[in-house]
Amino acid sequence: MAGEPQADCLFCKIVAGDVPATVVRETETVVAFRDITPQAPTHVLVIPKAHYPDAASLATAEPGLAADVLRVAGEVAEQEKTIDSGYRIVFNTGSGAGQTVFHAHAHVLGGRGLAWPPG
Ligand code: IMP
Repeated sequence: MAGEPQADCLFCKIVAGDVPATVVRETETVVAFRDITPQAPTHVLVIPKAHYPDAASLATAEPGLAADVLRVAGEVAEQEKTIDSGYRIVFNTGSGAGQTVFHAHAHVLGGRGLAWPPG
């Protein structure tokens, strides 16, 4: 069922505490933790605790929860002091775009110059 934990989902396991993560911020609905392979000095993943496979399906099913993810992404950027230099919020969607974990997540990247367009 939509939103329910999936037994084979890595990020559901992080939400459940079955896989360790370096959590930097948590609310009732969202958790933010450091990416295990950081691509920038700040690289934090912000995920809804409920399971949705990607950002668009999350926003369609639970727009308030999608907003929680975005709000916490901004709070993480502030907490990490990346506001002045700028930061990027990325939702890779589909394997062709680099999505490897099919539990919706925002990458918050900052702390270095970020080129455009992305690769
Ligand atoms: P995607 O490629 O956009 O789906 O992002 C998935 C991200 O999860 C990648 O940047 C990975 O480095 C990251 N990742 C994979 N396993 C873990 C983990 O156990 N803890 C934290 N981050 C992880």
